[in-house]
Amino acid sequence: MGNREQTMRAAETGAVTARTSLVSVIAPVYNERECLEELVRRIDVALQGRPCEIILVDDGSRDGSWGEIVRLRALYPAVRGLRFSRNFGHHVAITAGLDHALGEWVVVMDSDLQDQPESITSLLDKAAEGYHMVVARRLGKRHGPFKRSLSQLFARAMTWLADFEFDASVGVFRVMHRDIVDAVCAMRETPRLFTAMTDWVGFSRTSIDVTHGARFAGETKYPLRKQVALAVRGAIGFSEKPLEVLVTLGFVIASVGLTYALVIAVRALQGGIAVLGYASLMSAILVMGGLAIATTGIVGLYVGSVFAQTKRRPLYLLRASEGIETSVLPPSRVN
Ligand code: UDP
Ligand code: MG
Repeated sequence: MGNREQTMRAAETGAVTARTSLVSVIAPVYNERECLEELVRRIDVALQGRPCEIILVDDGSRDGSWGEIVRLRALYPAVRGLRFSRNFGHHVAITAGLDHALGEWVVVMDSDLQDQPESITSLLDKAAEGYHMVVARRLGKRHGPFKRSLSQLFARAMTWLADFEFDASVGVFRVMHRDIVDAVCAMRETPRLFTAMTDWVGFSRTSIDVTHGARFAGETKYPLRKQVALAVRGAIGFSEKPLEVLVTLGFVIASVGLTYALVIAVRALQGGIAVLGYASLMSAILVMGGLAIATTGIVGLYVGSVFAQTKRRPLYLLRASEGIETSVLPPSRVN
């Protein structure tokens, strides 16, 4: 039985542990130079005894992170590096890691050590009980109250919009079986929301609770602006509900307008209309104007994402790699 079949059997029956197969750990890196050595050291300790590769994807860092990745590769042979030609974003960096990972099991985690390398073995052990994917639910309140409420709001909105169960305490940290990785790699769509994409593919999944640590060094790479952009991308990219809401809203407003017109017509026939109504006219115009602009904007976002998709550009461009044979994109995975 091949290695791959063995692991599939493990995923189905839970009878065999996944200990023998290669584990790929993917971490996107954006200006995280000071975190990398500690990250690699702790992953290396956590995965002692298991064959593993650590794929660090430099998402256009400007702080010398790439130099650090090259240096670490000389110290830890398991380290591999991919360097983007510019900043393409967290979720695209994860995609690049997935494209190049060879493992039967693939772990995705942030590189700032908020996701703790020590939790990887718990994720793998849980997966070996017979799951295709185990996601980490982050305990601890390491993000401030504002950021947490924003995540919760986003999770609620997405659950409603996309009919998936979004959980605010789940980030990208998870382990996935090769079947899920292959399915996600086959999805070349933009915009990309890694968490939603892994949910969409199905298979068996569960979660475990892990401790969410403090950032090891540096500061967050997700300011409010990027968080909002991610939320909008998520809503537009994974749901047609905003369009349904708009259509419903249009009908509701039109019916109200029609009823009001009837009322006025009846009053006029009864001869009871005084020339008043400036305020109501103005508010109607403003409300309708605002709605028209918002509506066009939302439709525009959809058209924009269709436009982006039709250009069929590669999702990312590589500038360099360490320890990985690459073309710009693996040919089978170009759109
Ligand atoms: N990141 C990235 N590209 C970006 C922004 C962030 O690769 O454009 C990486 C970053 O290096 C980190 C992870 O994504 O490994 C999550 O970012 P961060 O920890 O700053 O987000 P937070 O935990 O504050 O939400
Ligand atoms: Mg973080």
